[in-house]
Formats: sequence, C-alpha cells, structure tokens
Amino acid sequence: MTTAVADSRASADTETLKYLSGNTWHTSGSARSGKVFNPSTGKSIASLPFCTADETSKVIETAAAALPAWGETPVVERARLMFRFRELLLKHFDNLSATVTREHGKTLVEAKAGVQRGIEVVEFACGAPTLLMGEILPQIARGVDAETVRHPVGVCAGITPFNFPAMVPLWMFPLALVCGNTFILKPSEKVPMTANLLGELLLEAGCPAGVFNVVHGDKEAVDTLLTHPLVRAVSFVGSTSIAKYIYETGTRHGKRVQAAGGAKNHIIIMPDADLDQAVSALQASAFGCAGERCMAGSVALAVGEIGDPLSEALVKAGEKMIVGATDSGAKVDMGPVISAEHRDRVAGYLDVAAGEGASVALDGRKDAPKDGFFLRPSVIDHVQPGMRVAREEIFGPVLSVIRSRTMEEAIHVGKNSPYGNGASIFTQSGYAAREFKRHFNAGMIGVNIGVPAPMAWFPFTGWNQSFFGDLHIQGREGIQFYTQQKTSMTRWFEHAGDAAHDPVWRQK
Ligand code: NAD
Repeated sequence: MTTAVADSRASADTETLKYLSGNTWHTSGSARSGKVFNPSTGKSIASLPFCTADETSKVIETAAAALPAWGETPVVERARLMFRFRELLLKHFDNLSATVTREHGKTLVEAKAGVQRGIEVVEFACGAPTLLMGEILPQIARGVDAETVRHPVGVCAGITPFNFPAMVPLWMFPLALVCGNTFILKPSEKVPMTANLLGELLLEAGCPAGVFNVVHGDKEAVDTLLTHPLVRAVSFVGSTSIAKYIYETGTRHGKRVQAAGGAKNHIIIMPDADLDQAVSALQASAFGCAGERCMAGSVALAVGEIGDPLSEALVKAGEKMIVGATDSGAKVDMGPVISAEHRDRVAGYLDVAAGEGASVALDGRKDAPKDGFFLRPSVIDHVQPGMRVAREEIFGPVLSVIRSRTMEEAIHVGKNSPYGNGASIFTQSGYAAREFKRHFNAGMIGVNIGVPAPMAWFPFTGWNQSFFGDLHIQGREGIQFYTQQKTSMTRWFEHAGDAAHDPVWRQK
C-alpha cells in the first residue's frame, strides 16, 4: 500500500496525499491544499493538495482512453474484478474501518457498519451478468424480433460527502464499473484517506489502468468534472444546496445526474409504542454517528400523552452516553463531529432554539471533551413546526421534540418539510403504520426502525429537496443509471442462397 495511512495518533501532518490516474499515484502540483484532521484529537494528520482543472482534465482523458477496452471486457470478467475486490475489502476490513474512524471520528462499530454496507453493494455488483441481461420479444411483428440491451454510458464521476467515507463511494463505482464504464471518484476533501485505500485495493484486485481514478480537491475539480465533455454521468451525495448546483450544472452540460441532498428526518412515536424500544431507537438514530447521517432521526413527533415520558427518557438516555475519542481504544458511544467549525454551527442551533421559545432540555455543550471537535447529545423540547430547528438540517447530535395531538397532525408536519429522505413510526398498530407509510412525505419509510436506510439491493429513494434526478443510487436503479439502452428491431429475409433452401437442411 503506497499511500499507507499513518497509524500513530501522535503523527501530525506526516503525509501528503496523492491522486490516482492510470493506476499511478501522482503528487499534485497544485498551489492550493487542505488539511485532513483527526476529529478525536483536533490535530491535522495529512495534507491534501487540491487537483487543478488541468490535472482533473488529464484524469478524465485517462479514464476516456481506458473506456473502449473496458467496455469490451466481458461482463463476467468485470464481475470477477468485483469478486476479488470484495475479498480484499474483507481482508482489510479492520484497516478500512480504522481509517474511517480516524479521519471522520465516528466510533469503530459505526465505521465497521458503514464499510459492511458498502461491501454489500460490491456483492450486488458481482451479479452484473444477471443484472445486465436484456429483454427480447421474438415475432413482435411478422418475421420481426425486438430486443433491448444495455450499454455503458462512458466516463462517470462520483462526488461524495464526508459522513460515510467508504460506504458512499462504494454506492457508486462498483456498479458503474461492472456496467462497463470508467470512473473518477472525487471524495470529500475532509476524508480522502479512505478513498485512497479503496483505490489501492481495487488496483490490487487487478483493475486495468485508467478504469478507476481518484481526484482530490474542491470546487475547481468538481466544476471540471461537471463541465468536461468526456464525462457522461455524475453521481453526487452531499448537502442540498450543492446537490442542486451539481444537478443543474451537470444536466446543463448534457450529463445524466443523480444528486442526493440533505435531510430532515422525522420519527413519529405513537401513544401505543413500546417506550423503551422507541427511546433506544431514537437515541441511536439521533446521536449515532454524532448525528452526521442523512438518515438521522432529527425530529421526534410525539403523539398524545407519550410526549412527557418520551422527552424525559430521551434526556436520560442522552445524559448516559459516553462521549470521547474514538481512535484510542476506549469504549465510547459517540465520537466528535467532523470539524471545529461544524461543532460551533451545530451548537449555535441550541441558542437559536432557545431564542425561538423552545426549551433546551439537554445541552450538549456542557461537559463536552475539550480536545477534538466534541459536543454531547442535545434534546430540545417543545419545538414548534415553524422553528428553524424543526425545519433546517442540523447534521449534529441534536434531537428536537415536537408534541402533536394526533397522528394526522404529525403527518402534516412532514408534509411541510422541504426535504423527504427518511421517516419512521413507532407503534403497535398496523393501521397507524399503514396510514403513515402511505401518506408521509418521504421516500424511505421505517416501521419500528430508527434508521430505515435501504440496503444495497434497493434504491436510496429520497424525495423533494433530498434528491435531484430520477434514477436513484443503489439497486437496479443504479444499474439503469450507469447504462444506456439500445433497442433493435430485426428481420431476416429468405433469399435464394440461404441454407434454408438447401433440401438436405429442409429435411432436418
Ligand atoms: P457538501 O455538500 O459540503 O460536500 C459534498 C461534496 O461536494 C464534497 O465532495 C465537496 O468537496 C463538494 N463540494 C462542496 N462544495 C462545493 C461547491 N461549492 N462546488 C462544487 N463542489 C462542492 O456535503 P458534506 O458536508 O460533505 O456532507 C454532508 C451532507 O451530505 C449532509 O447534508 C447530508 O445530509 C448529505 N448526505 C446525503 C445523503 C443522501 O443519501 N441523501 C447521504 C450522505 C450525506
């Protein structure tokens, strides 16, 4: 592993990270760079030069040059690359997970779960020979056969967020590659180390030169990917404002784009719910991963008399959580957020909530560890649907509690949300669950599940401002996104020299 991640907690800024093009790791000549931090210590652990537009263009040309041979490689061989890649991901599972923890800050348990979800996408991609089968209808008209087959779209780009350094890139490139495309990954500049590890493992698995590439950087690299004529498809996951920008810019430049954005996820707790189960699921959903999940439960909609006991139990659960460094081997329930700036932004919402008349029942600023980018869990009670904490994505360990008199009222809160990623209900009533499932304004629904994130075989179906595009990431929609269809109508005429006129052949 050439760009091996430094192991020691003490090492500071020891490494300058490289980008990958044509199966070679390159040092960028860029004058601009960023720092990668270990959020548990608050210290910089690597420096990351941001690829220039010229460097990014050259990577795109490299990916385009690799396209014809890769597209002609039998799909069974492309799938076998994924089988080998999967074995290497399992072999390096601990190192990958530790790298995620080190540069993101989430607990090792959470890092492992994310890597595992990513490996499942690779497993799905291994089924490419079946997934890519076409459709045929013989004799659609007299003597005419019709068929539709799938072709690669070309060079694809993936632009990914900081919160799932392994899983989100793995949502994209395994599917793009088995479909016969070449791929350029532009990971978040906050978590580039995991992306490089994935690149190293793919190379070790035998990926041909130029088929998978990694560029690092920010807007300059992204804008080059979005506007370069050789890039045909762009997958994006990140905040809503950038998702919208990516979708509009990419489509304006003739590309197909799938862009998943931010979220504000609601969890309804009905009066008949099992309180302990609901609290433990809410705790994991709102405070797990320090609230930095696009499927994090961010608003608890307590229906009827369950409001008071729920709020009290959530405060107790949050108070008990052990918050601390995730890379030191100590047992912790929650780690830091990604940066000092993000910690301050999240903490600022507690003042906003108090200013708008809500009550901060648990203040996560109190007793938060001082080294690193820490906040403890916060619970804001008596939130009204119109307040900023109820409407805006906070993306930190802050849970708002809204009291509703009826389920209809709770469903109405969801209807007014501009987002539409996930929503869950906790209840023992099949009728309530069914009503919720049919009428809540979100694309991914949980019934007695805290984080209803679809697994690899299903699409990640965000709605409204949580998704721009039509074909979602993952599952069969992912295969559709990374392929273009070709439909043929075929007729063969009999002619005099045809074998069909040979009397011997006719007797057979
Ligand atoms: P972000 O939008 O800041 O960054 C995402 C990517 O876009 C990064 O690679 C970044 O370098 C790039 N980028 C940032 N600003 C840009 C600009 N002005 N022009 C071009 N490119 C730019 O998101 P983040 O903070 O890394 O991730 C958190 C967000 O991602 C949250 O909003 C979360 O909800 C969302 N998210 C959504 C999903 C989903 O499936 N809907 C999944 C994970 C995360």
